[in-house]
Amino acid sequence: MTTRIMQIDDESLALAKKLLEEGDAVAFPTETVYGLGADARRDDAVARIYQIKGRPSDNPLIVHVHKDYDLDSLVEDDRPYAKKLRDAFLPGPLTLVYKSRKTVCSRVSCGLDTLAVRVPSHEGAQRFLRYADMPIAAPSANISKHISPVSADHVYEDLNGKISLILDGGRCSGGIESTVCDVTGEYPVVLRTGLVSAEMIADVVGRCEIYKPKEGERVRSPGMKYKHYAPKCKTKLFGGDELDSAVKAFGELERQGARVYVLCGDEVKDLFPSDKILDLGKTETEMAANLYELLHEGEKIADVILAVEPKKKDGVMAGVINRLSKACAEER
Ligand code: AMP
Ligand code: MG
Repeated sequence: MTTRIMQIDDESLALAKKLLEEGDAVAFPTETVYGLGADARRDDAVARIYQIKGRPSDNPLIVHVHKDYDLDSLVEDDRPYAKKLRDAFLPGPLTLVYKSRKTVCSRVSCGLDTLAVRVPSHEGAQRFLRYADMPIAAPSANISKHISPVSADHVYEDLNGKISLILDGGRCSGGIESTVCDVTGEYPVVLRTGLVSAEMIADVVGRCEIYKPKEGERVRSPGMKYKHYAPKCKTKLFGGDELDSAVKAFGELERQGARVYVLCGDEVKDLFPSDKILDLGKTETEMAANLYELLHEGEKIADVILAVEPKKKDGVMAGVINRLSKACAEER
């Protein structure tokens, strides 16, 4: 199969729609990462997504819709605070998990009675979703467990020959996957941290918690139990208070002749040679935007990436550190 990368225009959108109607999957840009989308109402189309990615069959998908889509046709929404969150953050990088009306096929949410819905703000994503005129189930457009794609080229590297079309909307500005927030309970619970932080949600509705699975409990966001976002090279993560160990490890690896790079923020980069830095930048949104781009770059040039955790842990950094620790997790 030949994989085409096309700018978003009438021709590529018509091709995308044709492919979707044939039950195929199409890659498209969003403000977080690139998605691999298919018709959420068709079991065969949704099954294709899992097959293309090699995604575990118990990891549910997020349904993407344009901003005027009739949400009521997909989910039951009886929580007044959920409307406040939509008004404050949508369209944008926030996915809300509602009680499902089961109008999309059950494979989307792996048989759960909830459904995750997202309204991306990326202009190209909105055009694509409006043109497709159907609920689009979409995980990130990468092979399962690899780093999420933040450009059309990243998608091509993973899915060349596996899909027909990548809609190119440039580099994703957000850089990490959406915040996933359960709105079925009395107050919102963040299942996956991201660019809309728990603190930002609490500011709007008064209360928000970040979910931590209790021992022995069934994980409420099945995807979170998997290690992913990993580059192909070796990685090692150091805490912000383990700088001495990071410097020592860097020296030892260099002496062994390894191509070693350090992924870190501005706060510690002066401890290492400047040509060996994968620079996350200064602010938390900058770090989120740069993280996957740098991991993609790093895996091409490094034998080992040493990552140093930024000191700030709350807000958007909770999402950045979550992805960073998953990228550097030993168990895959
Ligand atoms: P990805 O598509 O790789 O960005 O992952 C989607 C994330 O959304 C995973 O962490 C899933 O566990 C989570 N998710 C999707 N649907 C649901 C749902 N119905 N309930 C809870 N979490 C969900
Ligand atoms: Mg993913």
